[in-house]
Amino acid sequence: MADQMSGGCACGRVRFTANVHDDEAYLCHCRMCQRSTGSVSIAFKNVKLEDISWEHEPDWYDSSPIARRPYCRECGPSLGFAFKKGSDQMDVTIASFDDPSRFKPKHHFGAESIHRAWINTDGLPEYRTDEYQALKDRWIEATGEFPG
Ligand SMILES: [Zn+2]
Repeated sequence: MADQMSGGCACGRVRFTANVHDDEAYLCHCRMCQRSTGSVSIAFKNVKLEDISWEHEPDWYDSSPIARRPYCRECGPSLGFAFKKGSDQMDVTIASFDDPSRFKPKHHFGAESIHRAWINTDGLPEYRTDEYQALKDRWIEATGEFPG
């Protein structure tokens, strides 16, 4: 039994609904994903093309001769990955879901370019945004409230 899960970009222009059948996800560490996202790795949920519908279509760019990636030209996030042909599936970035909390990483891909220092960060100091007064002050000065 699939759950309907919604998501989209930061500004809200691109929106999707996906039928999600399980919580399995993965981290891709390949250099192309690192370059395309600006992140040391990117968390993806693989979905069947027939299980995702775009309420507002994303923009797409050719990221290599074999693949293209959806994004929003207004606010810039990486929304996924898709092969140009020969696949009935695509990846959706975990954090573009409205509630990314259910997904669990089940494997690493692109293992040849894993940056090991970023894999296990347990034990590092943790700071909350709502405890960062200078950040709160900027929000309150600009908008009258803190969104965190
Ligand atoms: Zn946007």
